[in-house]
Amino acid sequence: MATTSFTKKSLGFDVEPAVTPPPPSTETTFVKKPKLGSKMRKKEIPEGLWTKCPKCETMVFDKELDENLKVCPKCSHHLPIGARERIHSLVETCSFEEMDAEMTSVDVLQFKGVASYKEKLNGYQKSTQLRDAVITGLGKVGEFKIGLGVMDFSFLGGSMGSVVGEKLTRLIETSTDRGLPIVIISTSGGARMYEGMFSLMQMAKTCAALAYHGKAKLPYLSVLTHPTTAGVMASYASVGDLILAEPEAMIGFAGPRVIKDTTQAELPPGFQTAEFLLEHGLIDAIVPRKELKEHLIYYLDFLTESKRQAGGNGH
Ligand SMILES: [Zn+2]
Repeated sequence: MATTSFTKKSLGFDVEPAVTPPPPSTETTFVKKPKLGSKMRKKEIPEGLWTKCPKCETMVFDKELDENLKVCPKCSHHLPIGARERIHSLVETCSFEEMDAEMTSVDVLQFKGVASYKEKLNGYQKSTQLRDAVITGLGKVGEFKIGLGVMDFSFLGGSMGSVVGEKLTRLIETSTDRGLPIVIISTSGGARMYEGMFSLMQMAKTCAALAYHGKAKLPYLSVLTHPTTAGVMASYASVGDLILAEPEAMIGFAGPRVIKDTTQAELPPGFQTAEFLLEHGLIDAIVPRKELKEHLIYYLDFLTESKRQAGGNGH
């Protein structure tokens, strides 16, 4: 103790107090921050500036991550991306006309949990700036006008309730009426339990609308992103003319633990990943996020051409 106070005193230059104090070492700490992952450093990192890649644990500057469509620049891991950002990355500037933007759920079952369904909805609507877990509308991708539906996992786990089902059904019906192809980009934990049976009914409703769309010889491309599971995977997400997926996306119906417990069987490695499902024929291609737009244009061109030849009414 004595030594410390002695040293401190000896360092106090009481003759020269006018020396410029060292500048707050912002620069130095900023350079060091991404390199060090210790708990001490972690606390100092301002919220919303850096994101740690969950796969390679690199600290990525948020701006860089945004510019890279939320794909880690080091290991290409695909982090979750919001519906609006994704739409922005796909459609031609100013071409997107949103449909049913204000549609919101009614708490039909008067669901009461720790928080009521109404409170939950309000909370998510505020935090995500979305009304529900999907955005739908018509827009142009390349030269193709399409019906586009994009889900957002940040709204109640991308769960499908009556709003998601109804918005997608209206999108599909409008696209059928106007002779447009459809692209739906899914991410979902499944049907929304707060709406019980009403959620499950959306599975049949969306698929019925898609059947009419298919009868009109119009193409539907389904894009599965991490994670696409349960009621969504068991309905519209798995009935695309082409089914694409993002790399390493988890895709399945029930979770691996449930399946393992039910079947009492060892699950193969990589089970329920996009790569496994590509190998086993459930999906047609794995497309990295940044290449999705050009792939969509290529497939739309191919499918509209082949559908025309198959005797569709053309458009
Ligand atoms: Zn990474």
